[in-house]
Amino acid sequence: MGAAFKDVTPARDPLGTLAETLWRPMGVEGVYGRTGAYEAIVEKLAVFISRQRDPRAEVMRFPPVMSRGDLEKNGYLKSFPNLLGCVCALHGSEADIRAAAAWAEQGGDWTQALSSADLVLTPAACYPIYPIAAARGPAPRGGYAFDVAADCFRHEPSQDIDRLQSFRMREYVCIGSADEVSAFRERWIERAKGMADELGLPYSVAPASDPFFGRTGQMMAVAQIQQALKFELLIPVRAEDSPTACMSFNYHRDHFGVTWGLRDHAGAVAHTGCIAFGMDRLAVALFRTHGVHPAQWPARVKEALKL
Ligand code: ATP
Ligand code: ZN
Ligand code: MG
Repeated sequence: MGAAFKDVTPARDPLGTLAETLWRPMGVEGVYGRTGAYEAIVEKLAVFISRQRDPRAEVMRFPPVMSRGDLEKNGYLKSFPNLLGCVCALHGSEADIRAAAAWAEQGGDWTQALSSADLVLTPAACYPIYPIAAARGPAPRGGYAFDVAADCFRHEPSQDIDRLQSFRMREYVCIGSADEVSAFRERWIERAKGMADELGLPYSVAPASDPFFGRTGQMMAVAQIQQALKFELLIPVRAEDSPTACMSFNYHRDHFGVTWGLRDHAGAVAHTGCIAFGMDRLAVALFRTHGVHPAQWPARVKEALKL
């Protein structure tokens, strides 16, 4: 109370009223309060995705923060240093901390006194699962199957309705032999198309690359496409001619296996793959495609989501 209101940053909105129905601005680009109407659909979508889960999959839910050391070990700073958010805090004696806080009271930049904590903001839901799986020993035949989710952060401020800084990600992860992971991914690309059909969402599936940072990053992106390591399921959300990646199908080869000492059932270095569902992008896509009143959505979409 009494604080000055910041300028609000409305999301750039293809339908004009879409963002208004779904979100409330919180004064920072790509960060929104979510309305009950929006969250109701996110929850139904989560249940819809759970129904497709491999019965063997083990469920884990992760917090919005994770070990900074673990993420560094994954090589995140080599690939996406620009996207990472790090938790900082006021460390030191009571006097140090009091001085920094007092500085803020006087209009000073108290953030100068911050130093990094042992935490980063989780940038993708699957990172925390690899060391957990590694501690269990070799994967069983067929591979380990996990169902993971987290609130994710990426420092990519934008007014676009499909690019948030804080968003929810759900993933199915496979850890096993190269063949097991490839089969997992093939199976899921087909299953995901079926899911988009059930949800009445227009889509295409295309090879893709991660937004690796900088000039060397561009070379990594080219190699990723050549080796078909990433596919995306794209749905028109922000613009008809530039559809948005709402799911991704990723094959990491032995990257996490080497990093964490993961083994497949035969004792070889494990390969890994993940299927990521962008919960917020999918929910926005539903409203964008079917309108802002779920009660009026097509019967088969309501049936799929059990609305
Ligand atoms: P893009 O190319 O659009 O930046 P990405 O390749 O960075 O997407 P992934 O790293 O594969 O996306 O993340 C998995 C899923 O998480 C994406 O398919 C998308 O649905 C969702 N996602 C990623 N970044 C964002 C974001 N900034 N806002 C909302 N959802 C996102
Ligand atoms: Zn993943
Ligand atoms: Mg991205």
